Amino acid sequence: MKRTSPAKKIISVSQIQKRILKTDSLLIDFFGIPLQNPKPQPALEVLIGTVLSQNTNDKNSYKAFISLREKYKSWKEVKELPLRSLEKEIKVAGLANQKAKAIKRILDFVDKRGEYSMEFIGEMDQREALNMMTSFDGVGVKTASCVLLFSLKRNICPVDTHVNRTLNRIGIANSQIPEKTFWLLYDILPDGIAHRFHTNLIRLGREFCIPTNPACSICPVKKVCQYEDKNPSREVKRRFNDFLLLDNLH
Ligand code: SF4
Repeated sequence: MKRTSPAKKIISVSQIQKRILKTDSLLIDFFGIPLQNPKPQPALEVLIGTVLSQNTNDKNSYKAFISLREKYKSWKEVKELPLRSLEKEIKVAGLANQKAKAIKRILDFVDKRGEYSMEFIGEMDQREALNMMTSFDGVGVKTASCVLLFSLKRNICPVDTHVNRTLNRIGIANSQIPEKTFWLLYDILPDGIAHRFHTNLIRLGREFCIPTNPACSICPVKKVCQYEDKNPSREVKRRFNDFLLLDNLH
């Protein structure tokens, strides 16, 4: 019979913040502070790179991104490609039809503004920038928040499935919907930790806290984790996966 988890205890904002800081510190002890690309990455590149990364792994989205950058001299050339050709170019990233349409919409938008750049979002209020980017069909809150974190270096934590799963298991969030978890963190994330916290949680979710049979016995945050169904097995291995797309775009 499937076991139902008991309702999670409601905890206060300051308790959640303490749990975030404790988790952050354990992750730093284990993974270190991830290197952040010292050059601010152009917002348009990060936006397109993140669209390519939806529902695929970072290596395939990186291949698709690099093939566009190397084959075409400018984003204007990419905009002028027929939809079918763009789909072919980014096929390796999967969902090519959907992603090609989203990229076209973004490039049409910047073309109409007369400049192939999204740097103007740096002048906007954070919520306004999120609203503006999510108004493109095919761009959700996760994608838009990646632009704010990786290009504008804002203290904002994008929540993908890895981040959401780990935050729920650790006991920082309580929702299966990544967007809800994102808005929970939006107002309470302690200053200056977003890049390392987001990046290290992704590594935790890929290397230890996988969807089934997580490697709890060797997990770096097991001390703080509240997950009721921890995997008791000692026969578990870490799955190394440290390539992260968004600090490698140029
Ligand atoms: S202890 Fe287990 S459930 Fe908790 S974060 Fe680590 S791997 Fe995930």
